[in-house]
Amino acid sequence: MRHILQSILFFTSTFSYTGVLGSDTGYSHLAVCNAVAQVVSSKSSIFYPGSDQYNSDNHHWALSSTTNSTCTVEPGTAEDIGKILTILGITQAPFGVKGAGHTGNPGFSSTVGVQIAMSRFNEVSYDADTGIAKIGAGNVWDNVYAGLQPFNVGVVGGRVSGIGVAGFTLGGGYSYKTNEYGLTIDTVDGFEVVLPSGAVVLADATHHPDLFYGLKGGYNNFGIVTAFYLKTHPETSVWGGSITTTGVDGDVMAAVLKFYSTVTDSKAALLPTFNYDSSIEMSITQLGLFYNAPEPPQGLFDDFMAIPALVQNVSTRSLLSLIQASPEPSGLRGSFHTTSLHTLSSAFLNAVVNETEFWSAKLTPSVPGLFLSYDAEPFLSSYLSHGSPSAWPPSRSTALLPIILYYAWALPENDTAIHEAMVQSVEYLTRVAIAEGQDVAAAPLYPNNVIDGVPMERMYGENLERLRAIKAVYDPADVMSLAGGWKF
Ligand SMILES: Cc1cc2nc3c(=O)[nH]c(=O)nc-3n(C[C@H](O)[C@H](O)[C@H](O)COP(=O)(O)OP(=O)(O)OC[C@H]3O[C@@H](n4cnc5c(N)ncnc54)[C@H](O)[C@@H]3O)c2cc1C
Repeated sequence: MRHILQSILFFTSTFSYTGVLGSDTGYSHLAVCNAVAQVVSSKSSIFYPGSDQYNSDNHHWALSSTTNSTCTVEPGTAEDIGKILTILGITQAPFGVKGAGHTGNPGFSSTVGVQIAMSRFNEVSYDADTGIAKIGAGNVWDNVYAGLQPFNVGVVGGRVSGIGVAGFTLGGGYSYKTNEYGLTIDTVDGFEVVLPSGAVVLADATHHPDLFYGLKGGYNNFGIVTAFYLKTHPETSVWGGSITTTGVDGDVMAAVLKFYSTVTDSKAALLPTFNYDSSIEMSITQLGLFYNAPEPPQGLFDDFMAIPALVQNVSTRSLLSLIQASPEPSGLRGSFHTTSLHTLSSAFLNAVVNETEFWSAKLTPSVPGLFLSYDAEPFLSSYLSHGSPSAWPPSRSTALLPIILYYAWALPENDTAIHEAMVQSVEYLTRVAIAEGQDVAAAPLYPNNVIDGVPMERMYGENLERLRAIKAVYDPADVMSLAGGWKF
């Protein structure tokens, strides 16, 4: 696979752009779109307002992350991406790079300029000799799981249907298999990436190792990734699903804390989520259960299975069926935020539940369509030991347990109030953890869930200096800053 890839490395710098751009310096976004349309091959397409394809290319999971671009482009080849980036660099036009559009931050994968939608990079292939899967950067995890199922192998990927492989992996990747194999970046064997110069390169442990390090958590700062080479492991069926209950009773809390403090089996995972849904005026707890084998050892999840459930869909099944069993509703405005802990206590989990009550009472009267969700992630303390140094996290010496907030709401006039509430809630929960004696005031935050406006140091810490030096090598003209996202 690698020999084939090496043979396609090339530069587009010999291409003449003066014919399509003229000698102007002030290019309208529309002129840039028309120039892109002229240089790309027949494998790529440009769409303008009014077409279904334009709408779906701009569509984001959270309505608040969707922007009407001037045009959208669906590149069909890495070479075409090289030409597009060259035009964007010359014209300095804003652009967005979208995997599947699940970011909760407006402008991170959307733009008023040229929206690049990666959907045509949909390859899912498997090399039985190396055990490596090649995954195109336009895939969602559902396609990956479906494509690998016939080979009885799996990868470390998403826990919910519809999430993009690209943003998920370029930011880190928390999976049901993180206890066993680490973050998704810890399982990346190589990236195929188009640099702003137009060059298509392979970044792995031996080719451009600095770029390989930077892409493991560094998003779109260096170029546009077209494919991920992921390590696989044997997989047939798994066991799991979710249990939904109303409210949060003592049995739920006791089961979560017992699991966190006693289960050391790395094939097991738990994802407890505490929600408030204003449409039914009710608190709801959802418990995602997972075991990476057809059956868990006897007794491991008994406390959870004994909880009286509103809905329960736990069974032996494919991983694809598991992620599709509990679809996440979309169509509202939405935002994420997070804090990082070193340990979970009963008092902290109670504070989380109190936050759902506090903010639902405070916001419901003025915020139509309010939905609040808080995940507490009880990973094993060893989970960061599976990987090698990467852009994120800046240190692997202590486990980080992410607490993830997701708020959804209906109207744009509530955007500022929600942003402020989420920032305050995270600050409060961080103070609770510090008051417990946890050294988390500067603990690295998980960039896939950090709300916009947070300084880069809070995510990348002391890695920032090295990341900026790597960026200067691969994107000396800072073309990638014309696209939104976390910027080094
Ligand atoms: C319902 C839901 C469930 C989630 N569950 C999890 C979970 O279990 N674990 C977890 O870790 N995260 C989870 N997330 C967060 C998720 O990982 C991020 O939202 C992630 O960015 C989504 O990837 P995407 O490709 O869909 O995002 P996009 O919005 O398309 O992109 C996100 C960022 O990546 C950049 N990017 C996208 N494609 C490329 C590319 N080809 N090359 C360079 N840069 C690119 C974009 O420009 C943007 O800055 C969840 C999110 C949602 C909405």
